[in-house]
Amino acid sequence: MIDNRILEITAELAKAENIVIVPHKGPDGDAMGSTLGLWHFLKDKGHKATVIAPNDYPHFLKWLPGNDEVIIYENETERSNGLIAEAEIVFTLDFNDLSRCGLMQEALLESDAVFVMIDHHQEPSDYAHYTYSDSKMSSTCEMVYKFIDKLRASKKITPEIATCLYTGIMTDTGSFRFSSTSSDTHRVIADLIDKGADNAQIHNNIYDTNSENKLQLLGTALQNLKVNKDLRTAYISLSQEELDRHNFKKGDTEGFVNYGLSLDGIIFAVIFIEKANESIIKMSFRSKGDFNVNKFARAHFEGGGHINAAGGKSDLSLNDTIVKFNKILPEYKEELSI
Ligand code: 5GP
Ligand code: MN
Repeated sequence: MIDNRILEITAELAKAENIVIVPHKGPDGDAMGSTLGLWHFLKDKGHKATVIAPNDYPHFLKWLPGNDEVIIYENETERSNGLIAEAEIVFTLDFNDLSRCGLMQEALLESDAVFVMIDHHQEPSDYAHYTYSDSKMSSTCEMVYKFIDKLRASKKITPEIATCLYTGIMTDTGSFRFSSTSSDTHRVIADLIDKGADNAQIHNNIYDTNSENKLQLLGTALQNLKVNKDLRTAYISLSQEELDRHNFKKGDTEGFVNYGLSLDGIIFAVIFIEKANESIIKMSFRSKGDFNVNKFARAHFEGGGHINAAGGKSDLSLNDTIVKFNKILPEYKEELSI
């Protein structure tokens, strides 16, 4: 559907001077890679573009080209509101509903800009003038690559753009291993390497910059692992006290949930993380095969995401959240047990 409106978007871009690009709250590699990749592209085209992230993001993403120009809404709210009010186009990337922007949602709702959504989550909301949504895509970064291609501008992909887009495809596909990785994804990746993405360096920057604290926190998380073999489920929890003991920094628990899925026979993995300052328990859900964690998160934990990766939250205590989870689990016996 975006294909037959690409000329309209081209015309909107030709008129626009000020553009704002927004990732979701708690930006991950795909959110920052896609927004910064698009930012470089639009800036090179002569637009006054700005990436405004709803809140801060992990240290392991702070080397991305253009990182220093990113504005954090929570830290610079007035400046951000001014830029949003001025924008003629707002790109929203890697999310499907404005509520995923947290406090920034209000300023976006007041804006008269033309909204363009580029996203690969299921069930997109209908807030954008132009919606490029495809839940079969590995990542929003792969879609930004295709978007640039649809604008007939692939030749304008610089090493900086290639680096940003490579990063998000790599992180959202678990380094090209999830089933969302298609042969087309590999073709895009190959072209990004040709266009200047230094693949070995990018893997190093993302995965080999751990702190000792993070690895020791992983040790604690793994000691808390609980396995329900009958329902092929494994879960991990981390209390605020455990996080504090290991001097937790944003991003330190990234990827922990996947350890549950690495167990032989397990198809559903969960991590529960206590966030005392927000009085919530944040959850990540991962699955293999047909077990739909997007539906599970939506039905029980005010969340959502994709079939095999989703998130959610609970207002109960850590213990009560886990009790609630264990009560719900048998309802899915048919799908989970062999
Ligand atoms: P993660 O567990 O890595 O935070 O998120 C996994 C996937 O679920 C991501 O695509 C993320 O955007 C989505 N997700 C995480 N938390 C939430 C949430 O609270 N609500 C919704 N709708 N999606 C979420
Ligand atoms: Mn994504």
